[in-house]
Amino acid sequence: MPEIRGYLTELERELYHRNIRIPEVGEEGQLKLLRSRVLIVGLGGLGSPALYYLAACGVGEIGIVDGDRVELSNLQRQILHGREDVGREKTASAGRSITRLRPDLRLNPYSCRISEANAEEIVAPYDFVIEATDNFASKFLINDVCVRLGKAFSHAGILGMYGQTMTVVPGKGPCYRCVFSDPPPGAVPTTQEAGVLGAVPGVLGAIQAAEAIKYLLNCGRLLVGRLLTWDALAMHFREIPLPADMRCVICKKGADLQPSWSNRKET
Ligand SMILES: [Zn+2]
Repeated sequence: MPEIRGYLTELERELYHRNIRIPEVGEEGQLKLLRSRVLIVGLGGLGSPALYYLAACGVGEIGIVDGDRVELSNLQRQILHGREDVGREKTASAGRSITRLRPDLRLNPYSCRISEANAEEIVAPYDFVIEATDNFASKFLINDVCVRLGKAFSHAGILGMYGQTMTVVPGKGPCYRCVFSDPPPGAVPTTQEAGVLGAVPGVLGAIQAAEAIKYLLNCGRLLVGRLLTWDALAMHFREIPLPADMRCVICKKGADLQPSWSNRKET
């Protein structure tokens, strides 16, 4: 349980001085962050900057989910991990990196792949979820579970020199499934096949962290009902308005999930 404290310590005042100077944060907002819980699913290119910035800004408790081990080819974008971490579980490697920055962080590692069997239990205790996964099955699963539990989350996807992100607040705008309806039936290239420039998830993961912080502080305008896309090659950001899909099975029903992809194998 996050410690409930009504004041900032001297150390916290100094650590978070630049946060506190922001009118939307202040001491009250900083206390809110210190009491907040965020879940990050995926400790790769997106999860790395998201975890760094959320931990650095003082979020009190962070859950990290990843069942993979660090590989050499991860290191050009997954900045949580180093050469010496190759072969280690990503949760362990991320834990080592982030503890250097935040020895006081309450870090909950889940060294497993998120699945229908464990998703609800993992997501339930958190205030906000960062969807930083690299496969469609996990993206749709996280969407469906978050909508069912009424949890806000940030989605991001990347490929090559292109990225996109949106925020879902159940009941307040479209969900991921309203926009993308179903996992694509055919083969979609993965980053392993098509490549990805590390700076692309770097920027997108930082945007996801900013969305989480805004949600926790209840300030600003979230990426709800709009998809932000970034073409790094053209250096062009674009915003696409997203209407809610009234036929979306998840938003309509909330519960009762038997999605068509539930028996599909992840790729
Ligand atoms: Zn929906």
